[in-house]
Amino acid sequence: SNKKQKSSHIIEMKNVNISYGNKKVLNCFNWNVRNGENWKIVGPNGAGKSTILSLISGDNLQTYSNEVYLFGIRRGSGESIWDIKKKIGLVSSEFQLHYLEPIEAIKVVISGFFDTIGYYKRPSKKQMIEASKCMDLLGITDLAKHNFTRLSFGQQRLILIARALVKSPSLLIFDEPCQGLDFSNRNHILKIIDKIANSSNTQILYVTHVQSDHLQ
Ligand code: ADP
Repeated sequence: SNKKQKSSHIIEMKNVNISYGNKKVLNCFNWNVRNGENWKIVGPNGAGKSTILSLISGDNLQTYSNEVYLFGIRRGSGESIWDIKKKIGLVSSEFQLHYLEPIEAIKVVISGFFDTIGYYKRPSKKQMIEASKCMDLLGITDLAKHNFTRLSFGQQRLILIARALVKSPSLLIFDEPCQGLDFSNRNHILKIIDKIANSSNTQILYVTHVQSDHLQ
């Protein structure tokens, strides 16, 4: 039979060394994320947070000379980047800048199925329903037909969370999701993240330089 041993680790990093020039950013770094765990990574700017993320969802070439496993499969062993993308949702404030043309908010959410910025494929009925459910969970159903580029920063951030969540990823990465938000929007986003953690099978990886970002 073709059964694969199912790993109980979502992420595994073994003695990882990453340096840029003479600067060692990760030195014999070991880290395991087990099934069911949610993590927060906190550190000041320059601490190496983006470097860690680049080993998971990015294209850091140094990944391949290290032992990094995602969902039990070693990165660089011929795994498909699309298979990885299917399992990982990413929320980054950077995405906000990619949307320049008018586009309905619901279409931004649906683009999460295709891992694209725009919206090129016709979604299935099932995908439409899933998108509505996600917007409902986040309390943004009434924004569905609004032009994304005209929404407030906080509303846009919620739409982008729905976009990352829509494909029910195993792992949902929040990369500084509160960047640029005021206190009340910030609190709202943190509550939403707790809600996602409590109401789905998605595991959360929350990355921030703000020590005080408090999650459950
Ligand atoms: P953080 O995300 O916590 O702010 P980074 O992982 O971006 O930290 O950066 C860690 C250190 O590595 C910083 O000193 C940064 O200047 C350096 N660094 C990151 N990427 C590169 C790169 N591509 N080339 C050279 N230095 C880099």
